[in-house]
Amino acid sequence: MADRPDHMVRDIVIVGGGTAGWMTAAALVRRLAGTGISVTLVESAEIGTVGVGEATLPQIRYFNEMLGIDEAELMARTSATIKLGIEFRDWGRIGDRYIHPFGAHGERIGPADFHHYWLKEQAAGTAQPFGRYCYPIVSAWNDRFELPREDPASPLTHFSYAFQFDASLYGAFLADYAQKRGAKRVEGKIVSADLDGESGFVRSVTLESGTQIAGELFVDCSGFRGLLIEEQLETGFEDWSDWLPCNRAWAVPCAIGGEVGPYTRSTARTGGWQWRIPLQHRIGNGHVYCDRYVSDGDALDQLMTSLEGEPLADPRKLFFVAGKRRRLWNRNCIAIGLSGGFLEPLESTSIDLIQSGIENLVALFPEADCAAADRDEYNRLMDLEFERIRDFLMLHYVATQRDDAPLWRDMRNMTWPDSLAEKIETFRHRGAVPNYASGLFQPPSWLAVFIGQNIVPEAWDPRVDRMADEERSAHLERVRTTIADAVERSSGHLAFIKSYGATFGDAA
Ligand SMILES: Cc1cc2nc3c(=O)[nH]c(=O)nc-3n(C[C@H](O)[C@H](O)[C@H](O)COP(=O)(O)OP(=O)(O)OC[C@H]3O[C@@H](n4cnc5c(N)ncnc54)[C@H](O)[C@@H]3O)c2cc1C
Repeated sequence: MADRPDHMVRDIVIVGGGTAGWMTAAALVRRLAGTGISVTLVESAEIGTVGVGEATLPQIRYFNEMLGIDEAELMARTSATIKLGIEFRDWGRIGDRYIHPFGAHGERIGPADFHHYWLKEQAAGTAQPFGRYCYPIVSAWNDRFELPREDPASPLTHFSYAFQFDASLYGAFLADYAQKRGAKRVEGKIVSADLDGESGFVRSVTLESGTQIAGELFVDCSGFRGLLIEEQLETGFEDWSDWLPCNRAWAVPCAIGGEVGPYTRSTARTGGWQWRIPLQHRIGNGHVYCDRYVSDGDALDQLMTSLEGEPLADPRKLFFVAGKRRRLWNRNCIAIGLSGGFLEPLESTSIDLIQSGIENLVALFPEADCAAADRDEYNRLMDLEFERIRDFLMLHYVATQRDDAPLWRDMRNMTWPDSLAEKIETFRHRGAVPNYASGLFQPPSWLAVFIGQNIVPEAWDPRVDRMADEERSAHLERVRTTIADAVERSSGHLAFIKSYGATFGDAA
């Protein structure tokens, strides 16, 4: 595009071909189609990818939809299962079990939110556990799944779902998608970068072979090291490990030895927590921990002795630090994925942060000078995303009653960020839940964790008292039985996957 004015971006270079790199490439070729802007991705097979990241959030469905990807095809190609939420075991107290679902509890009855009526019902001693009033929870625990419906009378209208998939297959799927639509893939190891002496902008990267790749905009998807954003631009890292101390993980897949339920599981351990992510052909397992509270050897032992089936590979150890780059967009370089920051995978938020990074980049797509106004707005939006996720993850730790190990005692007694302290206090006071215009986790999510971890408000919304006790009890019971009946009639999770796959098979 030699006739394009100089101030426009002509060539985008993506550094790295992990999930972040290929999601970015796929989205950019789709959203910039017809502009003449080229997208080149450089990856190195020798360096490889981080190779974990199997649980997602419902937002990924919008991403796939934006790309025009058929969901059944995606599920078949990535060995995916359905995810209705995350089950947390032993987080509040040992023996506790609750699900953070992708959907709301109950139905609004009158002026107050459903949970206020439940709080009063519980105080009266007649409430069922909170989860029984939530369709995706009951569905998950009964190993059932049915697609959401658009029928206001059905509980199947009020929930969403995500996938548990093989992340390397998802990356390969998107690599195929992006290259078919014009993205250029370059294999090779980047050994240096050329920065403009005046502006400090990245002008090109050079491969081991000597090949130079130039561009106006660089997306750093190089993983934890931050090849451009940190090693070249020295952006700096905001370390949040005082708040989220876990800094290591062991990961190992195993054969399926139990149910392939439509949910991810997180079980709290003495020095961290363990994940279980069922895919169609195996279970993904990992132990996230802090080396100050449990040794590497003990963490590995705890993981290996709890596997439900034969290990399918050697366990891998990963190192990380909670936090984010001081600026996710610095000069003409935007860090997306692990290069931008990392928050432990307790709520499967990393892929979603990749998505937010891409969406904000597309929305604020710059001219070649990457104006400060665009960068500042991008950084403001991404900082907000990171901070709100950080607070939500911290809630799981600080709202514990466990006293059996130093990690849990320290987390209970730590000083919370003001933003989190306010949310907890507001809920404790009278059950009000923060309602944000933006941010990943909305009130139903906060509520599920507050109540799941035994934070009981001192009072409920006084408007609840205007309803007669019998009427309230009858309504709650109606909600519960409608959900139980709907779940009873829905198909099994595996039957659903098979039928979805079969549809794809016929269509292909
Ligand atoms: C323990 C753990 C569990 C996780 N679980 C989840 C989860 O359940 N859900 C979720 O959403 N996320 C999860 N994540 C995060 C998820 O794995 C990542 O967000 C995702 O894989 C994206 O990684 P990436 O593409 O940024 O980096 P990587 O996968 O590390 O990719 C980096 C790329 O850069 C390339 N590269 C690096 N240096 C060079 C160079 N010099 N030259 C050329 N190429 C180079 C590499 O070859 C590679 O292609 C987890 C992460 C960890 C650590």
